[in-house]
Amino acid sequence: MKKVAHFGLRWSLGASPEEQEKAKARIKALLREIGLERKFNPNRSWCSIEVEVGSRAFDVLIQACGEEDVGHLGLIERRYTSHELESAPLLHWRFTNQAIEDDYYDLHEDGYQGGEQASHKRCPACRAELEQVRDLMVKASKMGKRDLSLTYSFEVIFTPRLVGLLEEAKMTGFTVRPVWSYRKPYQGEPPLFQLVVTNVLPPMASPPTEFENLQHCKVCGRTSQYIKHTHWWGRIQYREETPIYYPRQVLEEAQDFNRTAEYFGDLAVATPYVVISQRVYRLLREHRVKGWTAEPIYLVE
Ligand SMILES: [Zn+2]
Repeated sequence: MKKVAHFGLRWSLGASPEEQEKAKARIKALLREIGLERKFNPNRSWCSIEVEVGSRAFDVLIQACGEEDVGHLGLIERRYTSHELESAPLLHWRFTNQAIEDDYYDLHEDGYQGGEQASHKRCPACRAELEQVRDLMVKASKMGKRDLSLTYSFEVIFTPRLVGLLEEAKMTGFTVRPVWSYRKPYQGEPPLFQLVVTNVLPPMASPPTEFENLQHCKVCGRTSQYIKHTHWWGRIQYREETPIYYPRQVLEEAQDFNRTAEYFGDLAVATPYVVISQRVYRLLREHRVKGWTAEPIYLVE
């Protein structure tokens, strides 16, 4: 695993022409110093630079950003090797597209406020989804050629092909619920399915897992939070999602699909994370399913 830092270097367009020239020259000099001068584009007012944390380039840029007004460190991300990904018993499954909109009636008919046609029962105070009361009805054609997608409300939607692959491989810990085209609900075979993860993991090991922005609703009792992602490097604030840890005994309870006991995000839209087994990871890779990434879960004694 290596950590990659994303810096944004920029000069202010509001500054006087002399100041702009000075800032541009300084950024150019910094990039020359770290061998990335080719990244400089005088026609833009910014450039984004990726460097490995701990490299000399990182040290040069972090020092400059701390002492001068040349830019900021936006994000540090972890990149895993294939070997690390292929040897992790459990992985946090993350989705990279939200092609499917929300349920048509939730989106267009006041469903988020609990209107008559809403797909979910919601808490009257925090609006958290407490219970799904009917199948989702969506614009199914938005799926295009994808095998999976999130909805805006973070429901995971599968094609019949993907459901077939998972069932054929006898994957455990999940079921599916039909998703209908809103124009032709409950007619024929459902065009899509919604993932319903049935196996719930015990709480994460915390510490070392760190959380932030804890929210709690006294009316429905729902608690949500974020994995800690706000960090400081000296005076520089940046974003880095910290890893998820479980006690190693979690492997005795884990199935192929699992959801976390914890909810993440703001209360009204908070959802659990999905944790998959190495078998699911390999099946998705083998069948070239796109629209997701995965990151190893850390196990502690
Ligand atoms: Zn509530």
